Amino acid sequence: MRIDLHCHSTASDGTDTPAELVRKAGAAGLDVVALTDHDTTRGYAEAIAALPEGLTLVTGAELSCRLDGVSMHMLAYLFDSEEPDLFAERELVRDDRVPRARGMIARLNELGVPVTWEQVARIAGDGSVGRPHVATALVELGVVATVSDAFTEQWLADGGRAFVEKHESDPFEAIRLIKGAGGVAVFAHPAAVKRGRTVPESAIAELAAAGLDGIEVDHMDHDPATRARLRGLAKELGLLTTGSSDYHGSRKTCVLGEYTTDPEVYGEITRRATGAFPVPGAGGAR
Ligand code: AMP
Ligand code: ZN
Ligand code: FE
Ligand code: FE
Repeated sequence: MRIDLHCHSTASDGTDTPAELVRKAGAAGLDVVALTDHDTTRGYAEAIAALPEGLTLVTGAELSCRLDGVSMHMLAYLFDSEEPDLFAERELVRDDRVPRARGMIARLNELGVPVTWEQVARIAGDGSVGRPHVATALVELGVVATVSDAFTEQWLADGGRAFVEKHESDPFEAIRLIKGAGGVAVFAHPAAVKRGRTVPESAIAELAAAGLDGIEVDHMDHDPATRARLRGLAKELGLLTTGSSDYHGSRKTCVLGEYTTDPEVYGEITRRATGAFPVPGAGGAR
């Protein structure tokens, strides 16, 4: 069983539509794929409609959180997408991405970069708008060579010259809301140092005490020593450990199924979840 529990589509900042994503996941030989767009569930219907036979979809989202000034991401799986409290929080975070993107564009304009909201909005389409869309605009304008190159102090990295914060949820509140909606909460790439500051192990222990289910360990942004440390911490704290690609289509270098989750851990996630069931592919529209 090959299980990839963290993927993005055009519903946020991936480059494959939800339908393309599940078709590629099927073609890549995955058995289970999770759709975890940033702060939105908008891609579900299209992914389900296109789901190939033999592939199971885990519905999810990656929620933007902040703890003591440090941005962090919380993966939520198999929650009830219509539960009103989590829905309202998701909407708050997602909607704030628009004025925030406009703010970053204004900063870039001050720095002499002629990027416009119209350009970024075209790139984002109907996906929840984020820095990768602004970064793509910078690539189009020839300011940087790649999306990754825009994530520097000079441009869009946390604290960078054109960086603007967005509203982000308190992770303890996020865990409470995810659980309240019958979901399972997994802290995404908790030690991805190249993305900026990370939270201390003591905070992970506090989140675990507050009901966190697991941490993402096998991820491209964790080196082998970091993975070993996180695995030890998870064991100590009784947390599940997952692995996933964090696939973003052509906006990142990782490929589908690059890292995967142990079938036993996947089984435990599905047993804990009460908000939604995994969706087995039935052939799908091709
Ligand atoms: P935002 O949610 O708008 O603040 O944008 C954060 C997203 O940017 C992350 O979820 C990643 O998908 C992407 N990202 C962060 N750092 C990098 C990087 N160094 N290279 C490429 N993409 C990145
Ligand atoms: Zn992303
Ligand atoms: Fe993330
Ligand atoms: Fe992600």
